[in-house]
Amino acid sequence: MAKLTVSDLDLKGKKVLMRVDFNVPIKDGVIGNDNRIVAALPTIKYVIEHGGKAILLSHLGRVKKEDDKPGLSMRPVAERLSNLLNKPVTFVPTTEGQQLEDAINGLSDGDVLVMENTRYEDVKNGEYVKRESGNDPELGKYWASLGDVFVNDAFGTAHRSHASNVGIASNMAQTAAGFLMEKEIKFIGGAVDNPEHPFVAILGGAKVSDKIGVIDNLLSKADKVLIGGGMTYTFYAAKGMKIGNSLVEKDKIDLAKEILDKAGDKLVLPVDSVVAEKFDNDAAHKTVDGDIPDGYMALDIGPKSIKEFEDVLKTAKTVVWNGPMGVFEMSNYAEGTLEIGKFLGTLSDAKTIVGGGDSTAAVQQLGVADKLSHISTGGGASLEYLEGKTLPGIAAISDK
Ligand code: AMP
Repeated sequence: MAKLTVSDLDLKGKKVLMRVDFNVPIKDGVIGNDNRIVAALPTIKYVIEHGGKAILLSHLGRVKKEDDKPGLSMRPVAERLSNLLNKPVTFVPTTEGQQLEDAINGLSDGDVLVMENTRYEDVKNGEYVKRESGNDPELGKYWASLGDVFVNDAFGTAHRSHASNVGIASNMAQTAAGFLMEKEIKFIGGAVDNPEHPFVAILGGAKVSDKIGVIDNLLSKADKVLIGGGMTYTFYAAKGMKIGNSLVEKDKIDLAKEILDKAGDKLVLPVDSVVAEKFDNDAAHKTVDGDIPDGYMALDIGPKSIKEFEDVLKTAKTVVWNGPMGVFEMSNYAEGTLEIGKFLGTLSDAKTIVGGGDSTAAVQQLGVADKLSHISTGGGASLEYLEGKTLPGIAAISDK
């Protein structure tokens, strides 16, 4: 069933609690990259332009002891948000109590308030009590009491049951998705539940063990699953091929065999690889077909595989990509990842969905991000969504 979204709500004069993802990289109080704050702006602007009082909650990093708190304050985030919105933003340096309640009660329609890092609640009087990340029922109830409606726009934490997402939602009459969350549900949820065919998944990255749930689920939904990256060679080993010194998970070879048997020709492995003598960009390297020779490790898919993958992709109507095709951090082994990213940018008739930090970095580096249908904002959350799991943060959003 479709989920309630922020545009379904009557926001005028309402105290709108908003769970956003402001988990930005931060060092010595300086924000490294404000993409996540920028990404949250459309929903925040919508709320204030419709007369809501925006009360923003987010986690920032991991708070495990009192000493972690000063470096993980939300104050610099509130300042950056104020610059981006070009209007004052009230920062409240606490997560509960009179000061917070007074500040909220003092808001006018269209004002914006940022509360301190929700994970400050994980440490109380020096003890690691995990009130936020353990979804303490009293905390969710308390935060819910501060607002009239709840908007959850933090997809990155949707796979977790925390007080600031699930806890608040379970104490609120109405919880709606923000625009970012809505887009994740539409594209990733859409691909998993109701894809337009042909549906092709491209899965890469280092390990089979990290992606096994995704491979399994997508084999039952997709028409083809293209495999690249380090996990290829565990599949090679399962087929009895030579893998040289390539990355392999020995304890996953049997599992890889089972997957190969089950998948038949749905699962497509690279037919050639770029192999190197060492895990080093400057090492001697060459391209080989099939087996990986002794003394070499495979670090990228080869040109024939790229061509073969493109042939499968060109008729696709839905494409999901997660994980690099090789060690793309090193320029000599980046081609597979970059060529696949570039090719996705040319597929104007397909829904193209990219998840995971490395594949996202690749399409951004290539400048093709705006030619794709959707770039997921959540790493762990998008993987679990692709595995077909119910994400508690999404399940807690009201149905329309
Ligand atoms: P993941 O976090 O599982 O998506 O894996 C990403 C990492 O896998 C990147 O840092 C890549 O460098 C690495 N990777 C991709 N292909 C290979 C390969 N053939 N051998 C070793 N590492 C690889």
